[in-house]
Amino acid sequence: MSLPNISRRSAVVPAIAALLTVIYLTGRFLPGLDHGVRMAFRWYGAITIYGVSAAIVLVRARVVERDRRIWTILGIGMVLYALGVVASLISPRAADDPPVLSFVCWIAFYAMFYVALLDMLRARLRPFTLAFCLDGALAGLTLAAICSALVPHDLDALSPGKEVAGLATPCMELVLLSLLVWANAMTGWRHGGAWRWLAAGMALAAVAEVSTDISVARDAFDQLAPFNALFAPALLCFAIAAWRPAPRPRAMRTDPISVLALPAAGLVGVIGILVFGDVDDLLTGGLAIGALAIAATRAGLTVRDLSRLHEARRFARGFDEAAIGMAFVSPRDLTWTRVNQTLADMLGRTPEDLVGRFIGEVTHPDDRDRAVPVWDAFRDGGSPAPYVRRAVKADGTVIDLMISVALIEADDGSPLLFSQHQDVTEARRAARHNEALAELSRVALELRDADALVERMTALLSERTPADEVALVADAVTAGDDRTLAVGLGHGTLVARRDAARPPFAVEHARFLEAAANVIGTALDRARVEDELRTQALEDPLTGLANRSYLAAHVEQAIAAADRGEGGLALVLLDLDRFKVVNDTLGHGAGDEMLCAVADRLRSAIRRGDVAARLGGDEFVVVCAGASAAPHEVAALASRILEAVSAPYVVDDRELHIGASAGLVFAEGREASAESLLRDADLAMYRAKEAGGAGYEVFDAGLRAAVVRRLATEEQLRHALERDELRLHLQPVVDLHRDELAGFEALVRWEHPERGLIAPSEFVDVAEETGLIVGIGGWVLGEATRQLALLQTTAGRPLRMSVNLSARQLRPALVDEVRAALRSAGVRARSLTLEVTETLLVDGPGAVEVLNALRALGVTIAIDDFGTGWSSLGALQRYPVDVLKLDRSLVGPAASSAPAAALARAVVEMAQALGLDVVAEGIEDDEQLAAMRALGCPHGQGFVFARPMPAEEALALVAEGPTARAARAPAA
Ligand code: C2E
Ligand code: CA
Ligand code: CA
Repeated sequence: MSLPNISRRSAVVPAIAALLTVIYLTGRFLPGLDHGVRMAFRWYGAITIYGVSAAIVLVRARVVERDRRIWTILGIGMVLYALGVVASLISPRAADDPPVLSFVCWIAFYAMFYVALLDMLRARLRPFTLAFCLDGALAGLTLAAICSALVPHDLDALSPGKEVAGLATPCMELVLLSLLVWANAMTGWRHGGAWRWLAAGMALAAVAEVSTDISVARDAFDQLAPFNALFAPALLCFAIAAWRPAPRPRAMRTDPISVLALPAAGLVGVIGILVFGDVDDLLTGGLAIGALAIAATRAGLTVRDLSRLHEARRFARGFDEAAIGMAFVSPRDLTWTRVNQTLADMLGRTPEDLVGRFIGEVTHPDDRDRAVPVWDAFRDGGSPAPYVRRAVKADGTVIDLMISVALIEADDGSPLLFSQHQDVTEARRAARHNEALAELSRVALELRDADALVERMTALLSERTPADEVALVADAVTAGDDRTLAVGLGHGTLVARRDAARPPFAVEHARFLEAAANVIGTALDRARVEDELRTQALEDPLTGLANRSYLAAHVEQAIAAADRGEGGLALVLLDLDRFKVVNDTLGHGAGDEMLCAVADRLRSAIRRGDVAARLGGDEFVVVCAGASAAPHEVAALASRILEAVSAPYVVDDRELHIGASAGLVFAEGREASAESLLRDADLAMYRAKEAGGAGYEVFDAGLRAAVVRRLATEEQLRHALERDELRLHLQPVVDLHRDELAGFEALVRWEHPERGLIAPSEFVDVAEETGLIVGIGGWVLGEATRQLALLQTTAGRPLRMSVNLSARQLRPALVDEVRAALRSAGVRARSLTLEVTETLLVDGPGAVEVLNALRALGVTIAIDDFGTGWSSLGALQRYPVDVLKLDRSLVGPAASSAPAAALARAVVEMAQALGLDVVAEGIEDDEQLAAMRALGCPHGQGFVFARPMPAEEALALVAEGPTARAARAPAA
């Protein structure tokens, strides 16, 4: 701020000074110059120079802020000095006898010089004590005494006032000179040009003054004496000093030698004078005694300060040798006033280097602004909490300093800041590292996906580590230099790099990176395992298609998308038609191969964005997002998939043809869930199967209504038995040869309280699916045998009763059930016929065994609905069958079509050849009856004779006699 200001003009002032000096000295000493001219220079030249010097000093005080007060005092003193000379010039008295006013001015000048000097020293020398000022005075007086002793003089010639005044000025000059020399010595001379110039000027003035006084003392005073000419350059030196920088505040030397050198020398000088000098001489004696008095005062002060000094020493030792960094800071300009070795070491400097410097110089540039709140805290009367600042060491290394500052009172009562510094770089680094590790672990737990994990973790590390670049590379890497760290983590290497401009990585960094790599490695391993598990959990292991869980999740998503209006959603459920055959005949290996082949076909048949899944077994699902329910598109979609799946397969070198049934459902515009869609598709698929397979069915509201109805049926059917809602209707079976009633077939009916009489076609399937058929069948068996007993009693002859069995009933327990029913009704087993369908027979060897057991009871077994399945007549031989019931689909056409008649005849003849009885079912009219008679079919059943009827009607029928009604029925 003020410094450049001074140095810029510092060359101007010496130039002026040099010029003036040359002119002045020329006027004084150039040979051949007239006495008058010399005298003019001696007076007017000197006064001009004094005035100019004072002006230069005052201008400096005005222009430069720093030390303004000091230089103002000095400048005014110099003006006074010049006025003293003017007073002496205009005085009417002799030139060698200046007026009192002149002495007053000159003494005032030296007094002001002294004040300014002390002010200057106090601001720059620490600690500054009065004792040191006394040292200057002591030295000055001693010097004066020595001069006085060496120079013969006669004081009696002078008036006492002038005597005192004339003596005071050289003494003061010597005292000031001593102080300046001492102050320069304390700051090592090289610091601060200002003090050197002051010392030089004072030396010139002292020499001029002393020599003048000596000449006066010898009564040989000459106005133009050479020494006299030194006053002008002396004041110019002060002017130059004003424009030189003053030394930075410095710690004063406090070692005993430095402290005691000056007073000791002074004391030795005084003692020397007292011993060897002319003690009788009043001046010498007075000066020596004055010096002694000062020495005594100083000793007294020292004694008084001794204990305090001791304390200060102890403090100094504690301060200097403290393990933590300590410093005193001047609150005025925030400069270090005292710094201990530990703090200096922390900052990589010496205490001397730091004292006097602005404390902010070592603060990290980014932290400098943060100092303000700390000082604000003091201003507000509080004390700031310890804080951490980054500091820059001499070598550029950045460290963290924990600083606590307290405002204390210095010995002289002025405020002083005491600060303690701890290097917390390590601790902070450890804390930062731990924090980063904790954060890493948190991220590791949070993120499941390996890629996201790597991305987040490297970002985190780049942010939190002292590295300039962090990367996770796939291969193994070894660090090439000390600015690269590489840590392997199983599946790769974590590499951290640092720019060449920064110091190399420290051991702690390597340790931290290892720990981080550990966390990342573990997290990645876990993420990988989870990835695998997830794939396993969502993939069908056999075909690699999506599995049920994945499908469910995907469908839910697709439904949500459809709800947002992103197009419709179609779900196609696919069931292979004859897969069981492949599995049973070619083995499971071939079955699996086939399923994989189907999966491949599906994969290539679906479009992008569609998903194919395997639900299990031979069930597959294709989910098509954005599908429309428009009929032609539906047909296109279904046939595309069905065609793909149905093309022939080659398994085990065999060409296999396999069909599939599909159920389609659309999620468009209605509330749906994955579950409900799958259920609906399943229904549609079953409908397709029922329709013969190798086709598709689209789920619609009707199907749903049927399902709902079916569900209701199921629910109510559970209670039908206990509520006694089941009825048994009986349909007569007629002996066609004898034209008489041979017996009845028992057909179940459900007398629903609301829906009325319900035919078995509406509830037998449900009963079979739910297993209710077992209870119902048991009831039918009991009721049928009971009715049979009644009918036989009424008829008085062995009528027969046929009872239908469902697959579910055909288990070993049935044998006991039948035996119990027969026994409880009291009818013979021979009267009972049990009807089973041909599909029941092929279902398993168990069924055949049960039938054998039943036959062993004496019960007759009939094959129902013969002609609708695939059984050949020959196959019947292998089964325990007694009766063949010719299905309605063979009977009806036989009356009108010759080929049908031929087929029917063949069946009847063949059956008879096998020893089987034959019953023609569903004979509806006379032609059909005639046809059956013509075929020689032994028994017939149908509306032509009678519809199934309640038990009472049957009883009434048999009561009428054996033949009458059976034959007459069509006429009725
Ligand atoms: P099914 O065993 O073939 O029974 C004969 C079915 O043909 C009866 O239908 C009967 O009413 C009907 N029918 C008889 N004559 C004619 C005719 O001339 N023309 C026509 N169009 N139909 C005729 P229903 O009673 O509705 O029984 C249907 C099926 O329900 C039965 O077929 C049988 O499979 C099953 N069923 C009936 N009762 C039982 C039962 O107690 N247990 C079991 N498991 N199934 C039963
Ligand atoms: Ca039947
Ligand atoms: Ca039948």
